[in-house]
Amino acid sequence: MSGGWDAVVVGARVAGAATALLLARAGRKVLLIDRAAFPSDTMSTLFIHQPGVAKLSEWGVLPALLDSGCPVLDTISYEVGGVRLAAPAPVMPGAPAAFAPRRRVLDQLLVDAAVKAGVEFVDRANLQELVHSDGRVTGVRFRTATGVRTEHARLVVGADGMRSRVAQLVDAPLEVSDPRASCVYYTAWTGISTGFGFHESPGNWIVRIPTHDDLTLISTYFPQDRFAEVKQDPFRHHLAAVRSTAPELYQQVCEADQVEAIIGTGDQQNYFRRGHGPGWVLVGDAGHHLDTISARGITNALLQAAFLAEELAVETADPARLDAALARFTRRRDEELTEPYQSTLELARLTVTPSRLEMLRTIAASPELTGRYFAVVAGMLGIDELFDDDALFDDDALFDDFDDAEGDLGDLDREVQS
Ligand SMILES: Cc1cc2nc3c(=O)[nH]c(=O)nc-3n(C[C@H](O)[C@H](O)[C@H](O)COP(=O)(O)OP(=O)(O)OC[C@H]3O[C@@H](n4cnc5c(N)ncnc54)[C@H](O)[C@@H]3O)c2cc1C
Repeated sequence: MSGGWDAVVVGARVAGAATALLLARAGRKVLLIDRAAFPSDTMSTLFIHQPGVAKLSEWGVLPALLDSGCPVLDTISYEVGGVRLAAPAPVMPGAPAAFAPRRRVLDQLLVDAAVKAGVEFVDRANLQELVHSDGRVTGVRFRTATGVRTEHARLVVGADGMRSRVAQLVDAPLEVSDPRASCVYYTAWTGISTGFGFHESPGNWIVRIPTHDDLTLISTYFPQDRFAEVKQDPFRHHLAAVRSTAPELYQQVCEADQVEAIIGTGDQQNYFRRGHGPGWVLVGDAGHHLDTISARGITNALLQAAFLAEELAVETADPARLDAALARFTRRRDEELTEPYQSTLELARLTVTPSRLEMLRTIAASPELTGRYFAVVAGMLGIDELFDDDALFDDDALFDDFDDAEGDLGDLDREVQS
């Protein structure tokens, strides 16, 4: 289309900025808009699993993240019902550890990389309407401080989060949905040195997440049916949950300084939306959201951006071919993200069954199984591979990954220092 964009991406955080970056690097002309003023924070406990870190590494963004002073989360632990699992963080090529960067840092790094790749970025730009022609979405109309702007595009990407305006405007139905199961509140502290990990008891899930500026976020999850009660006095319930479920952490909290107000949400939606239609596609939370207890949203958003860019790497000038590529993207999204969705729903029920405790006891007795368990948690292995003997004893493969990842960290250190 003359004078138009190959793609307009609405929403410039992990899903949108990553999608814009990849499309621009593939030679596409891309406009990226967001209604927020960047750099910008958003509600999140920030944790990125290794498959998400590997994407940042592949796209060349990880060195800048390390350079920003983001702590390297290279250990992990999990305590529940008297069982303790602890291990080095799992590694994979490109992902020497996990990270939990402030969103004003991570999202801005992705936007900067996108702009460097040729994307035009406009913040404080609020999508109002979609433009249609011959039954297709062919552009966007958005409001900025200086007025209303209309832009035409072959593809409009809705990367505008759980309450997506794009999804609303195209009337994208929920194809899978499940009731809200949990609610969450979190705070930020200085003076806590625990590393990354989680603690569970029936009805509570606690996570400690080191982030920038020597801060540790502590998040507490409660059952959704307690939300009305917890939100009356979230800080008191937060502290009570830490004291009962993670007493050693509570001792540190008593000596630490709380540096940010407690915030949280009960709006823990669980769904897959229809992912595409003529001239439009949804990525990130806009198309698929899951309870934040498994901390998968950022990683899923980065993976979806990669899937979409891969499916669009073919010739898409013909609308039918474009729509076919979008359909392949949605199928892939659903295939790859259904298992973590199901296991997240299970976790968010916050029940500790005797059979799960028994399994965790078995895992805790074996350092090898413990490592594999955390690789499952990170989304690097399927749950059916946890006790898979072939994979379990394939030491060469495990050590190859470890060597690659150690090499990655050394390379990154050198890049950061140079
Ligand atoms: C309490 C909490 C804790 C969480 N913890 C974690 C965690 O530890 N790890 C993890 O992986 N995930 C976590 N998440 C989830 C994670 O934050 C999201 O999954 C992730 O941010 C989704 O990214 P996104 O780019 O799809 O959407 P978003 O981050 O929601 O970004 C959407 C963007 O679209 C813009 N936008 C919206 N409407 C418009 C419009 N009309 N016009 C223009 N722009 C618009 C918004 O300004 C926003 O910048 C947490 C979420 C919550 C609420």
